[in-house]
Amino acid sequence: MDANPAVNESVLHAEVLVLGGGPGGYTAAFRAADLGKQVVLIERYPVLGGVCLNVGCIPSKALLHTAQVIHEADEFEQHGVSFGKPALDIDKIRAWKQSVSAGLNDGLARLVKQRKITLVQGTGSFISSNTVEVQTETGVTTVSFDQAVIAAGSHPTKIPVFPNDDPRLWDSTDALELKEIPQKLLIVGGGIIGLEMATVYHALGSEISVVELMDQIIPGCDNDLVTPLYRRIKKQYKNIWLETRVTSIEADNKGLKVTFDRAEAADGTSDKGKGAPESELFDAVLVAVGRRPNGKLIGAELAGVNVDELGFIAVDKQQRTNVPHIFAIGDIVGNPMLAHKATHEGKVAAEVAAGLKAGFDALTIPSVAYTDPEVTWMGLTENQAKQQGIDYDKAAFPWAASGRSLSIGRKEGLTKILCEKETGRILGAGMVGPNAGELIAEAVLALEMGADAEDIGLTIHPHPTLSETFGFAAEMITGSITDLYIKK
Ligand code: NAD
Repeated sequence: MDANPAVNESVLHAEVLVLGGGPGGYTAAFRAADLGKQVVLIERYPVLGGVCLNVGCIPSKALLHTAQVIHEADEFEQHGVSFGKPALDIDKIRAWKQSVSAGLNDGLARLVKQRKITLVQGTGSFISSNTVEVQTETGVTTVSFDQAVIAAGSHPTKIPVFPNDDPRLWDSTDALELKEIPQKLLIVGGGIIGLEMATVYHALGSEISVVELMDQIIPGCDNDLVTPLYRRIKKQYKNIWLETRVTSIEADNKGLKVTFDRAEAADGTSDKGKGAPESELFDAVLVAVGRRPNGKLIGAELAGVNVDELGFIAVDKQQRTNVPHIFAIGDIVGNPMLAHKATHEGKVAAEVAAGLKAGFDALTIPSVAYTDPEVTWMGLTENQAKQQGIDYDKAAFPWAASGRSLSIGRKEGLTKILCEKETGRILGAGMVGPNAGELIAEAVLALEMGADAEDIGLTIHPHPTLSETFGFAAEMITGSITDLYIKK
């Protein structure tokens, strides 16, 4: 015991210690326990699930569903059914969102108990290559371990010159709290978080402006897949400023005064800021310019684990760090920072720790932006295929020729497929349209199974579904499409 009676010190031992209880961490802990290991799971928050379940994927999807219903009800007037203007009870919407996360928190707590995992609530930090010290509410718990899995995640990137303490300057966690619906909301960063939150706040009544540094929104995705989303939100939002940088944000009594970089072009005729004003006042600003790994916040150096300048921890295919009995998974090991990547890595780490021959060898990690329309892609993008000089065939099936898409009143969607010219094998695919995120899994499976365009085209897709569009895109490659007329 510590000499200080106020500090309650306890000591535990773990065969496998897992630091961080997000999707990656709890998956690693559960798999290790299922493989017979005695597991200690350390989580700083009172509930499990990490960013994804508490302040990320899940609450955002609950709010995005609300946004979708508001939009659909509004657009349904054209189909002959009017509901009138929606009456919003923000407290109830917030409570609904929280109840979704809470249900999953309870489920995870049950799974921890059922697996007899020791859960320590507190902030853990390595003090040696075999020990983690956890600051808990009641004192310090020291956990020694045989093997450890670092699953400590990431945090939103802050721009230091912005007034980050001002409550009107938000990160994604603040935006998801739904404290208020600002009249004028600026979103800095036209990536996935920025555009998902824009979808939510637009439906709830805010006037949205988006400012993006690059020349398109969601810069990692092919432009043709992003265009239908861009066209739709361009009409809905007040402004979308591309190739524009925010140079400063100043707190003012009336709002946040945002200044934009709109340097003059050489001929002085146009500005780089693509129409952005010199400055404008907003009621709130959401900064969504990426996330930073938490590698520098966990005492990794005391365990001898290498952390790079940005806070990432390098791992091999078995998720091992440079210290062979310490593994790392999820956001902390690199991009893309996606829950489904973390869970797969978590399983690999747990299996290797339990002595199984496992490795992370997935061919692709799919991406989905749950905007309206949804945008999703997997495998090679067309931009990457071009950069790598790969010979490919491409087809893009327009959802305007899909009976199912038209029946839901939407025709802007697109299903695109890239196949290797020589073999016909699928290289990549992407979709944009309502529910596109639900469709990409088939393309991922096709890639993993080494399917070619003929395999996909000959697979009977149920009619009328949006899933047919993937089969049709493959038929466009093989030349057997009948739902379109393509001149020979
Ligand atoms: P992101 O990298 O997806 O997008 C950030 C955007 O901000 C980019 O388009 C970038 O060009 C732009 N940007 C950067 N600096 C800027 C500046 N100073 N001014 C204007 N624009 C600037 O990052 P995010 O949207 O913050 O998301 C963070 C992570 O979380 C990503 O890895 C993302 O994949 C993940 N995430 C995924 C989902 C999902 O899968 N649906 C949802 C939310 C978050």
